[in-house]
Amino acid sequence: MTALTALDLATLRINGPRLWASLMELATIGATPKGGVCRLALTALDGQGRDLVTRWAREAGLTVTVDRIGNIFMRRPGRDDSLPPIVTGSHIDTQPTGGKFDGNYGVLAGLEVMRTLNDLGLQTEAPLEVVAWTNEEGSRFVPVMMGSGVFAGAFSLETAHAATDLDGRTVKDELQAIGYLGAEVPGQHPIGAYFETHIEQGPVLEDHGKTIGIVTGVLGIRWYDCVVTGMEAHAGPTPMALRKDALQVATRLMQQVVACAHRHPQADGVNHGRGTVGMVQVFPNSRNVIPGRVTFSIDLRNASDALCDAMDADIRAVAARLAADSGLSITITPVSAYPAQPFHADCVQAVAAAAERLGYSAMPAVSGAGHDAVYMARLAPAGMIFIPCKDGISHNEIEDADPAHIEAGCNVLLQAMLERAG
Ligand SMILES: [Zn+2]
Repeated sequence: MTALTALDLATLRINGPRLWASLMELATIGATPKGGVCRLALTALDGQGRDLVTRWAREAGLTVTVDRIGNIFMRRPGRDDSLPPIVTGSHIDTQPTGGKFDGNYGVLAGLEVMRTLNDLGLQTEAPLEVVAWTNEEGSRFVPVMMGSGVFAGAFSLETAHAATDLDGRTVKDELQAIGYLGAEVPGQHPIGAYFETHIEQGPVLEDHGKTIGIVTGVLGIRWYDCVVTGMEAHAGPTPMALRKDALQVATRLMQQVVACAHRHPQADGVNHGRGTVGMVQVFPNSRNVIPGRVTFSIDLRNASDALCDAMDADIRAVAARLAADSGLSITITPVSAYPAQPFHADCVQAVAAAAERLGYSAMPAVSGAGHDAVYMARLAPAGMIFIPCKDGISHNEIEDADPAHIEAGCNVLLQAMLERAG
């Protein structure tokens, strides 16, 4: 085999039609009448999907190993096979009304990189691997991102094995039933760097007319419950000046949840702040009673923990001011928090450089949704490549992507992996 260093990276391209054909063939397993895919984790259909992908991997000369949570690793040796592998992948389980591309694209793009290197007769210095993580979607079994989560030590193998579906079947039994309860201990598998290609699952790339999203990280999330307490009173006899109307104060604070998201851009001026009130309850919820109490949810997100902290302080200060002005009590109680996960600068740069070499329009992007790459970023330098999906729609049978974008994202993946693997 030829040494990669002798070649100009910029001339290398994957085979787009072959990748597209593989995506369409995998999508026939669990195909729904509306053009989507229903292939829930660890069902017989998931087993058939796994069988097809691993058959393709073996046909491409890859070595297939499976760990005890059913993660599948498909390996192409390097010139120095003792180096930690450069890994790519995603998941092939879907939502009940899932699409053809979510997850499947990341796995099959990795396989296409391997097939392309076979065509070119190229061997990399470090080994390359494609991974299919178990149960990313969390639809049949919780928690979500189960395979990568166990691999990264976020929760234990025993916890994952004991998770049950609505019929009481366990993950461990279902892994056994489809033949994917492997021998390898999850996590005892070195990773040199990790890349994941994925449809954006949102509308930003399409809105900007860009082909490649250079994903800089995954948003941090803060959830709160807020309670505004006033005093119920009759809507007729109580003059306006003598009311303690909890809803009027609550709606002013709700407006500030949204405004807060606009107030916290990154240092470079880009704003990934998000503020959402999604649930509201009004007591006593009666037409002719001044509301005495309002409870509502607050969901704040931003690109770094520091920005999430700043939004936290902002909304608390606004609430304190509103409480002082109105004389009503306002409490904000944290419910849960997920740290922001910035991706490694080297991986982000590798994706950006590849997109530029290939002449694709690109922009920085953040992920508002979780991905297996979030857990991998705890273990190794990691990065993600987004491509647009039609109307930003995902987790839906009508999820669609442009074959040219599918091909472009895979070309970026090829170059980014080769840059890391040498
Ligand atoms: Zn996905």
